Amino acid sequence: MEKLLEQVLQERYHKTIREASSQEIYTALLLITKDKMKHMKRNEGKKKLYYISAEFLIGKLLSNNLINLGLFEETREVLEKNGHHLTDIEEIEQEPSLGNGGLGRLAACFLDSIATLGLNGDGVGLNYHDGLFRQTFVDHKQKEEKNPWITEDSWLTRTETTFQVPFKDFTLTSVMYDIEIPGYKNNCNRLHLFDTDTVDESIIGDGISFDKNDIKKNLTLFLYPDDSDEAGQLLRIYQQYFMVSNAAQLILKEAEDNGYDLYRLYDHVAIQINDTHPTMVIPELIRLLMEKGFNMDTAIDVVRKTCAYTNHTILAEALEKWPVAYLEKVVPHLMPVIRELDARVKKDYSDERVAIIDKDDRVHMAHIDIHYGYAVNGVAALHTEILKESELKPFYDIYPEKFNNKTNGITFRRWLKHCNHDLAAYLEELIGEEYLEDATKLEKLLDYKDDETVLKKLCQIKMHSKEELRDYLKMTQNVEIDPNAIFDIQIKRLHEYKRQQMNALYAIYKYKEIKKGNLPKRPLTMIFGAKAAPAYTIAKDIIHLILCLQELIEKDPDVNKYMKIVMVENYNVTKAEKLIPACDISEQISLASKEASGTGNMKFMLNGAVTLGTEDGANVEIHQLVGDENIYIFGKRSEDVIHLYEEETYSAETLYQEDEMIRELVEFIKGEELEAIGDMENLERLYKEIRSKDWFMALLDVKEYIETKEKMLADYEDEAAWSRKALVNIAKAGYFSADRTIAEYNRDIWKLS
Ligand SMILES: *Cc1c(COP(=O)(O)O)cnc(C)c1O
Repeated sequence: MEKLLEQVLQERYHKTIREASSQEIYTALLLITKDKMKHMKRNEGKKKLYYISAEFLIGKLLSNNLINLGLFEETREVLEKNGHHLTDIEEIEQEPSLGNGGLGRLAACFLDSIATLGLNGDGVGLNYHDGLFRQTFVDHKQKEEKNPWITEDSWLTRTETTFQVPFKDFTLTSVMYDIEIPGYKNNCNRLHLFDTDTVDESIIGDGISFDKNDIKKNLTLFLYPDDSDEAGQLLRIYQQYFMVSNAAQLILKEAEDNGYDLYRLYDHVAIQINDTHPTMVIPELIRLLMEKGFNMDTAIDVVRKTCAYTNHTILAEALEKWPVAYLEKVVPHLMPVIRELDARVKKDYSDERVAIIDKDDRVHMAHIDIHYGYAVNGVAALHTEILKESELKPFYDIYPEKFNNKTNGITFRRWLKHCNHDLAAYLEELIGEEYLEDATKLEKLLDYKDDETVLKKLCQIKMHSKEELRDYLKMTQNVEIDPNAIFDIQIKRLHEYKRQQMNALYAIYKYKEIKKGNLPKRPLTMIFGAKAAPAYTIAKDIIHLILCLQELIEKDPDVNKYMKIVMVENYNVTKAEKLIPACDISEQISLASKEASGTGNMKFMLNGAVTLGTEDGANVEIHQLVGDENIYIFGKRSEDVIHLYEEETYSAETLYQEDEMIRELVEFIKGEELEAIGDMENLERLYKEIRSKDWFMALLDVKEYIETKEKMLADYEDEAAWSRKALVNIAKAGYFSADRTIAEYNRDIWKLS
């Protein structure tokens, strides 16, 4: 590495390693790594997976690629020797803004594991130039800015591959860009990102506004453009079709180039549809096969044996339903196929609930996937059970054999080795490095459960991570946090079902207690990080509440010694990598039955945080693995919650009226303390929402939540006992390796080799 780096820096900049700037070193390392990957062996096999996803939240790539290529330690040493730090070099890289949250991060972890297991599989998505958005806070409110991430030298490689994508009124020429995905100590796969040269970033005006009708110029500007109006919905259909038409054309081209018999496409190709966004790949493939001479029956049969669907949510509003009229405006050539798929379903099943086109002329995308795919999976045990027993029951009754569970996972290369060097190095010292390839080996750590030296050392590592987070937040946001405080962290997209508002009610409780003189033994630092969808009003009101509370507490000398709130700006993968190793309490407090899996919960566990959570998503499996001793569970269970929705008996107003403590917490939202800081329009709207609707039942669980968190804060004071909990969490996290998840996908669904 040293020779190569010297050589590249000389050629490009006429500088030695010592003389070069961080930017120059970053560029040189990028070029060297890219070139290495270009010449690496590809995974092969007679069958190939195409993982199609609207999001790939891949995070920064330099260090991760160096780790997977086995060059990390060497590079770090070379840099140190020459007066540089790899962490400074990492700062130069822009994080690709190609995802929104867990779903996109899952796709990224999966690519890592697919390559690591040596499987033949590529990702397919879109190359959004300005990503989701970059979040800033102005006047205690979220502001959205564009997030350009593509620099002159980047991980993208422009390829020669291009397709014609037909829309109703015009045809677009696509260009395929590739990002190399190296496996850990293994070969390379690729992420294919489609784009078009007509896209024009200069049409972006204030913030993230742009002309939604100018498709040729706006098509790949943003991920999830605002779809609260018709133009926005049409744009999303344009994006989705562009993504899947390119995917389908690529798949057929590669199959034909390999000389495969398209009538047996399913012997050579598996297509994983990640959530409903890529659903149109089904009618598009059928259409393309018919252009090649297939009859409808055969085309449908072949496609049905090729495509599998992953469901990520039971929130009804998140399951896409496009009006027939909109599809007619964008992709009229797909409608005959979709109508035929619908007619076949209607012929066999009279049940309205399984129809593709409903009586309001809307196309239910998930229903296409379930009828015309060969597998349907949920992403955690509880989630899959809920799909089978309630949300998708009519489908489960028809196709019980299609339904299966694949509990999510995370890559330990990024979420332990890369983000927490100290812990990874110590684990290596104790139990070897094997766990990076066989995660179940982490259980060897249990041998040290009662070893005082080990428990002490784990505490020291946590303290060091907390100090590093302190320095990082000082540098990036100019806030000061105290590493001796308990770090209580909730970082995830902002959504009412995830219940950041309930955590805010806890903050109000704590504030009031401290004002009353009930002083905690140790200060508490509550850290939030969350982006709200730009058109999601209540979510933005919750951010406003948290930012107002942050200021109220900061400015109050009676309180600021004992508690602090920090809302981290622009939460993304890079921020997650800094926050997670420093966490003591992992907040996983969604309303039971609503969080499909969660993967943040797994990252925290792996880094020795203790979960404060409901029996929801993968928390259920975490609970089973670590046992009652090592997790803090509270709140109503999913059966009860589902029942409450069915009976429509939940009343926030009643809880408000009948419980004085709840009433005081809710009143605080529009009380005089916050009035002095915030915007009453936002605060009153949120107050009303929580008091009179509270759709995700924060008031139902808030008291038990407060009690459980208080118990946790008290238990933290027994250092050895707490450290033992952390150890058990780390040891039991092996199950949540994405390598395990991918091995199961391959065994049960893809059957690649
Ligand atoms: C892991 C991750 C998520 C998912 O978090 P959940 O708590 O599972 O919702 C979202 N965003 C980023 C940046 C992540 O790394």
